[in-house]
Amino acid sequence: MNSSTPDAELRGVRKVYDNGARGVEQVDFTVTKGEFFSMLGPSGCGKSTTLRVLAGLEEPTSGEVLIRGESMRGRPSHRRPTNMVFQRLALFPHLTVADNIAFGPRLQRKPGKRVGEIVGSMLELVGLAGFGRRYPAQLSGGQQQRVAIARALANEPAVLLLDEPLGALDLRLRVQMQQALKRIQHDSGTTFVYVTHDQVEALTMSDRMAVMNEGRIEQIGLPAELYRSPATTFTATFLGDTNLFEGDSRGDLLESPGISIKVAGGGRAVSVRPEHVAIGKDLTCANRYHGRLEDVIFQGASTRYHVRLTSGVLVISERREETGSPLAVGDDVETGWDVDAGVVLNQ
Ligand code: ADP
Repeated sequence: MNSSTPDAELRGVRKVYDNGARGVEQVDFTVTKGEFFSMLGPSGCGKSTTLRVLAGLEEPTSGEVLIRGESMRGRPSHRRPTNMVFQRLALFPHLTVADNIAFGPRLQRKPGKRVGEIVGSMLELVGLAGFGRRYPAQLSGGQQQRVAIARALANEPAVLLLDEPLGALDLRLRVQMQQALKRIQHDSGTTFVYVTHDQVEALTMSDRMAVMNEGRIEQIGLPAELYRSPATTFTATFLGDTNLFEGDSRGDLLESPGISIKVAGGGRAVSVRPEHVAIGKDLTCANRYHGRLEDVIFQGASTRYHVRLTSGVLVISERREETGSPLAVGDDVETGWDVDAGVVLNQ
């Protein structure tokens, strides 16, 4: 193995379950050392299947899994250099926190002194120094999940696999744990492959991410890249909100039912993020339309405006602050955007 060998690699992985259900159709990706890689997609798109194939909990129907350059074909889960953290954690309730963390290293017959060191550094890493003598039932949900992560990392896996690990926590705790997890990942230098259906979680935590749909990868890239430059209508609509107009390309125009849009380049659709849509009077942007303000939705830091164009098409604008005089439902308004705000899509 050399330093450019990825920590994890999936080549043409396909999984058909025994009952004929299609787990994944075709999945290819590589994860480099120390990377936080996420798989994001709607329920049933094949995220868990992909993770389970990596873990060795499922054998792929075809294709191959490599960890640090080594084929995992036929190798059972407990002999792979991977560990998995689940949404429903499986701490041993009758063991203390320290003994839970020590479980793996003891199984590997590490000397007692070394086990003690590992437990100490893991408790430190997950911010639970001083909690070693407690039992799982004496900890909060977030603390228990930290122990589960410490226990998995104590085995020093090449790749840590996490299947919606924060899914059972309430929103506030989830946000705190997202930051904690990101720090733990960074400090430990361990490669993480993370599954979530929560786009904010994937966008905020990942170094790179894959958007999945119906057993396939739609797009892989940096979170900002996927958000700003989606390659498909699925990615554009799944990741954040957007105004999606589908139609026929005519030169520098996209002719969509009820709206004609100036675009840069030909394609079968254009995606315009609400935060790039202006609203007001006497706009100067290249695409301008008249309509009636149908809804104003106050969201705290920003406000959403639903504008119904004369043709019946709905355009959504999101603004950080009120510009000029306040707008009210029923007002006649202008809405629009510049050509470069539209991302042209071909599939
Ligand atoms: P996700 O994690 O994205 O929600 P899954 O990987 O769990 O998706 O599921 C992908 C597809 O495989 C779904 O259609 C699901 O019903 C099917 N599936 C998952 N696990 C099994 C199984 N053990 N047996 C049969 N079908 C399964």
